[in-house]
Amino acid sequence: MKTVISLKDLETMVRTGQYPGKIPADAILTPSARDFLLERELEARGTRPITAASNGIISAPAKPLNSKSSKSEIEAFFNSPFCHDLKMQICEIGRRLWGRAYVDGNGGNIAIRVGEDIALCTPTLVSKGFMKPEDLCLVDFEGNQLLGAKKRTSEILMHLQIMKRQPKAQATVHCHPPYATGFAVAGVLPPTCMIPEFEVFASVAIAPYRTPGTPEMGQLVADLVDKHNVVLMANHGVVSWSHNNVEDAYFKMEILEAYCRTILVASQLGVPPKTMTAPQLQDLLKIKQSLGIPDPRYGLKECELCDNDEWRPGVSCALPPKDEAAGKDPEAEAAVQAITEQILNKLKG
Ligand SMILES: [Zn+2]
Repeated sequence: MKTVISLKDLETMVRTGQYPGKIPADAILTPSARDFLLERELEARGTRPITAASNGIISAPAKPLNSKSSKSEIEAFFNSPFCHDLKMQICEIGRRLWGRAYVDGNGGNIAIRVGEDIALCTPTLVSKGFMKPEDLCLVDFEGNQLLGAKKRTSEILMHLQIMKRQPKAQATVHCHPPYATGFAVAGVLPPTCMIPEFEVFASVAIAPYRTPGTPEMGQLVADLVDKHNVVLMANHGVVSWSHNNVEDAYFKMEILEAYCRTILVASQLGVPPKTMTAPQLQDLLKIKQSLGIPDPRYGLKECELCDNDEWRPGVSCALPPKDEAAGKDPEAEAAVQAITEQILNKLKG
């Protein structure tokens, strides 16, 4: 039989020093008990969201779900304290996205992988700033809605295609932060080698424009998530994924947006922005690799690391010229040498 935990039980646990104890995954929490946990968490962290689940207060289901799990198993999961906590996390991240003006109207969407081929996601036609846990939806990896009173987001296919292609992706966030979206509209990748946080936590690529919500759009994004955790969607917005949790996926948005804003300011100061050196970037890439974050630059030559050609021609290689010469095609070099000699001989003759 399932344990029902009330506010009184939790208060007793606090009084007797048993809080925070382990609450069984299948325990039923009364609404006031849930609110209590939420408040305690907020107090303890001094920050949102409530991650009772990630703090180990509420344990994850012992058996991972998949789309073939029985209806009652899926329903039990959807109504469990563990899933409630994940729903609260999504609502909180939605509030942050809206609060920072990274979403507009009912734009933006968020998803968390909760089983082998199942994800929890945001509904369509709801402002991400004002979602309630009961608004959220459960879908299989084909986008079929399994549970939830509201209809799932129309852009869910892209999130699911990321999760299918990148097994490490635990959570995905899509939004339209204005500065980063500006780069996406211009089709310009933000330059590199300027700010450490951006180098360590984000690996950015651009996907071409397709109609939002189409499988084709999802495909083009998914093609990039092997080596990138942030994708600028041309003429649309940004999507990120994290191997940790939904807050981490959201952090990538803050880091990217702050970066795009900063370099726009830097580019208007009348002096060329200074960049870090290739060895300095190499140090950051080592940290990045140790954090398990992908980056297409692992293993590149130092000369190739701070190549910002696309951003501002001329800022490319921070290495002395001898290395540049080493990179040239020897056959072409020999041909140029031979022609030069012929011309010189003609002139002499
Ligand atoms: Zn969008």
